[in-house]
Parts: sequence; C-alpha cells; structure tokens
Amino acid sequence: MAGAYPLEPSDGELAALFDRVTRYAREFYATLPDRPVYRPELDQGLHERIRSTIVEAGAPLEEALELLDAGQAEGFTTASPGFMAYIPGGGFPTAAAADFLATVVNRYVGLWPAAPAMTEIEARTVRWMCDLFGYGAGARGILTSGGSTANFSAVVAARAGRLGDELRDAVLYASDQVHHSVDKAVRLAGLPSGTVRSVARTDDLRMDPAALGRAIAEDRAAGRRPFCVVASAGTTNTGAVDPIDEVADVCEREGLWLHVDGAYGGFFRLTERGRKLFAGIQRADSITLDPHKCMFLPYGTGALIARDGQELRRAHSATADYLQDLPEEAEIPSFGEYGSEFTRDFRGLRVWLPLVVHGVGAFRDLLDEKLDLTRWLSEELLTMPGLEVPWEPSLSVVAFRAATDEATRAILDRVNASGRVFVSSTTIDGRVYIRPCIVVARTHRDRVGELADLIRAAAAELDGG
Ligand SMILES: *Cc1c(COP(=O)(O)O)cnc(C)c1O
Repeated sequence: MAGAYPLEPSDGELAALFDRVTRYAREFYATLPDRPVYRPELDQGLHERIRSTIVEAGAPLEEALELLDAGQAEGFTTASPGFMAYIPGGGFPTAAAADFLATVVNRYVGLWPAAPAMTEIEARTVRWMCDLFGYGAGARGILTSGGSTANFSAVVAARAGRLGDELRDAVLYASDQVHHSVDKAVRLAGLPSGTVRSVARTDDLRMDPAALGRAIAEDRAAGRRPFCVVASAGTTNTGAVDPIDEVADVCEREGLWLHVDGAYGGFFRLTERGRKLFAGIQRADSITLDPHKCMFLPYGTGALIARDGQELRRAHSATADYLQDLPEEAEIPSFGEYGSEFTRDFRGLRVWLPLVVHGVGAFRDLLDEKLDLTRWLSEELLTMPGLEVPWEPSLSVVAFRAATDEATRAILDRVNASGRVFVSSTTIDGRVYIRPCIVVARTHRDRVGELADLIRAAAAELDGG
C-alpha cells in the first residue's frame, strides 16, 4: 500500500482492503465443506516462498493472501464439518467478526479503568460462566488463551492457597485419564517431580473416590502433604466424567483444593444431560473451560473460574509504581490480577458478541445435537461386525476398536484417506482405540453418516479378509 504513512490507509484503500478480506472469508466458508479435511503432504515450494517473505519493501496483499490460502489447505482443516479428531474447535463467522472488531478498537482490558465498559463485557461472559456452574457472588474468573493456561493458573492458585511457600512433599491427585496439561502445570508451578499421584479408576474410566481417599490417607501417614485433586468433566480420550460430587466429598473432608478440568466437556453443562453428569460441580474450587472447544469459538479462548475469586487474585496479583495513577479494583474486576497475563487481546468480545447475537439457546441446541449424533454413531458402531464399543459415550466422544490394534489402525487409515472425515486414535490400557469426537458446530447428521459408512466399509473389508 502506497502513501506517506502506509499503516494509515485512506478511506478508499480501507474499503479495498476490507472488501478483499471479507471476500476471502466468504469464499472460505463457501468452499469449506468440500475441502479435504486432512492433507499430510507439504508443498515444499510453498514453504520456501513463505520463508522468503518479510523483506524491506512491502508486497501486494494479493500475494500474501495467496500464500495464506495455499497454506491453510495443508494439515488438518479444523473448521471442516468432517473434522472429528482430537478435540475439535471449528470457529464460526460471528466470532470471527467479533475478533475483527476487537482488534479494530484494540482496547486494553487488563485493568478495568482503561476500558470500564469493555471490561464489563468480558466480566459479563465470566459471570455467565460462574452462574452456569452454580457459583455464588464471590466467584471470579478470567478468559485465558486456552485450557492449558487455565489449568496452570488453577494449580498456581491451589498451590498458593493450600501449600504456601513450602512445596516439598506436596501431592496432587488425578486419574491417568487426566489431560497432560495438568502434569505440565504442576511442573511450571514449580512443584517437585513426583507431585502428581495417579488415582485408580473404575472400569468405566472414572476416578474411584474410595481409592482417592485411601491414597490420601497413605500419603498423610507417610508425612506427605496432599493439597489438590483434579477431576475431569470429560476426559480427552473418551469424554469420561469423574464422579465430581463424591470426589468433592473427599476433598471437603480432607481440606483439599478441588479443580475440575472441563476444558473439553464443561459447556455440556448447558444441556440437561450435562447438568446431570456434572452434579456437584458447584463445589469445585476452580473449573477450567475452553470456549474454543464446546462453544465452537476460534482458538485462543479458554477460561478459568474460581468459587472464591480472591484465592485466584491472591495467587496472581502484583503491583508497580508506574500503575499508581490507576484506581483499585472495585465492582469491575481488573483481569490482570487474576491470571498470568497483563496485556492481552480483548477476548471478551469473541465470547460475548456471539452469545448476545445468537442467544444461549443456540449453543444449547448445538450441544444437544452433538450428544445425539454421538449416541447415534455409537449405536451404529455396535451394529458393525468385528467392532467393540466398550464404553457408552457420556458426551460427544465414542471410542471403538477392531479385534487387533493392527486392524484398528488399518480402519483409521482407510477412513482418513477419504478426505471427507478425519478422526484420531488413542491408547487405553495398552490397546488402540479410534475416538471420533463431535464438536465442530457445522458437523451434522450427514457428515457423521458419512463417517459411519466409511467405518462400516473399512471394517467389512478387513473382516472379509
Ligand atoms: C484440550 C484440553 C486441555 C488443554 O486445553 P488447550 O486449550 O488445548 O490448552 C485440557 N484439558 C482437557 C480435558 C482438554 O480436553
């Protein structure tokens, strides 16, 4: 772009820029359903071209868009209705529009006086989450970059609240199905290796509260210092939900911090089925949520809520002389005091605008649809010869396997080779499982039907020799 100050385009240039970008977005959405869901091959020429970008002089926008478009076709098309691997995200247009507007106004939401109403918008999204989980007036929270950073801040708050400065002999309990970010959070929080103790689970892959109680007693007898339990409200592997109410009984009795990792499953709380599964969750000291999973929002949107917001604040707040002109926190929270970030993007708009425009009901309906689709898929799988579906799905993941790991992997490869759907596998108790996970907003019955047909064909082919 020409002009004396290229970062300040004229109105005409602005119109051209934004028209081109919105045209790109519309073409992207229009062609998305038919794009291959997975393309493993790298376009070496393209990668070389990307490596040669960023030089002294500017280049036409068109060239950059061409690289973006060619590049985004590689790897996983995470926004595709066929993406059912790992825990999908997806994104949707209203959220993209919100993000665009958030970066246009570019307001600072780390300390409330800098943008009181914008902070209020973000605080409203957090309050809505606190209400959803039955937290009282003392609850606070923050929007984070994702579930991992939320789990990190939760472990930091639990450490500060329950251990103080003495970190030796600390014990945190979780089942072996807990997300790996919990191990990482413990390490980043400065806790010694050996802090995480794996608690036995029942056959349905849920934490065994009796085993938890026994482990705590053993550790106390050995002079160790139990301080925290992490329960999963939907594991990444299979969507299993730990018995939160019973785990909360143990935590209450023992004075331990209960953190619930609801990064994958948390927002199913919006549905009747989720409400039942998560009974007792309001007793948790903190809950991790990931709006970039089950609220379908773009990546970079996580959340942490705490029943006693002051615990979160005490663990994270800090001050400085150069902030002396700013008033203290009052009714509107200063988010910089509740998490590890100070300056960050205005994530609140990306959560708030879609909730305002579409209403909460739209999200509830979509989540109910995903639960129904998963149940349907699970029933279809049960009719396919040679497949085992050991666990009834709790949420929107269903794990299944063929007679051998080799056969299971062969099914995975055949299904994914279609380019229409993409699923991933895991290992549980030494055996390989394929675990379709239905979370993309635009995944509906037609695409799940295609997945079922592909699995049926692959399984039949293997079964027949
Ligand atoms: C995805 C996930 C996380 C990590 O969240 P990120 O947003 O990927 O950092 C943590 N816990 C569970 C259960 C998850 O599914």
